[in-house]
Amino acid sequence: MKLSEIKIDFQNELFDLYSTSEIEELFSIFCEHFLELNKVELRQNLDKDLSEDDSNKFSEAISELKTGKPFQQILGETEFYGMKFFVNEYVLIPRPETEELLELAIQHINDSKLKVEGLKILDIGTGSGIIPIVLKKHFPEAEVSAIDISANALEIAKRNANFHKTEINFIQKDYLNEVFSSAQTDNDVYDIIISNPPYIGIDENPEIEDSVKGFEPNLALFSPTSDALIFYRKIAIDAEKHLSENGIIFLEINQKLGKETLKLFHNFSKSSLLKDISGNDRMIFIKK
Ligand code: GLN
Repeated sequence: MKLSEIKIDFQNELFDLYSTSEIEELFSIFCEHFLELNKVELRQNLDKDLSEDDSNKFSEAISELKTGKPFQQILGETEFYGMKFFVNEYVLIPRPETEELLELAIQHINDSKLKVEGLKILDIGTGSGIIPIVLKKHFPEAEVSAIDISANALEIAKRNANFHKTEINFIQKDYLNEVFSSAQTDNDVYDIIISNPPYIGIDENPEIEDSVKGFEPNLALFSPTSDALIFYRKIAIDAEKHLSENGIIFLEINQKLGKETLKLFHNFSKSSLLKDISGNDRMIFIKK
């Protein structure tokens, strides 16, 4: 089969699900992945005959795409913060909003009085491990820990940490139902607490796209109770004891609950609500 014929198959098979430009983009993503052709090379090779093996790979990709499966899960990888990360059905596909949270955290850590040697960082609900891995890359002398309830998610997180040669203390833990301690003692004090917890309210379920809730882990998306802020409430309580003197908290939040989330941290000396690039309330940072 010629590459141009595969391209027509992509358009014919996927037009119900995606727009023409999205299909074009998907086609080039798979060409890059299977054939290592960039967009220019792709245009120059449309007449190229593919091996049976390569043609089959494209047919399988089309069949999977037709089920609505996100292309990142089909590829088994995605890009985040300019780095490659493995993903599967047990972890959330990294979102650009979380890149913004990390940019904010990196900038504030650099500008703070905190010493980066031995800086203690904790990520709550790490999923694929993107947050601790990016932070460890930027602050190699920090001691970075990351909690998740899901053993399957931690398996991917460890694979990502090994791939990026970063040492992270991953801990399987039901954060909401256990005492705070990430490691051995209950006296753990962190300089940085960061989290992108499940923050979609159960009542918001109908607003979430099928391709998200059908393929990504609901455990990572939806609050486990009718209280969409349950993680933030616990973080606010825990931080009173477990955040160091000049410590900072960085949280990704539900865009509809900015003010309510901020209120939970009224005991702290400084708390700010920030918008993402789309203009939605998306992050808060809090200083002890
Ligand atoms: N931003 C994600 C979404 O809208 C949700 C992430 C989360 O719940 N932490 O799909």
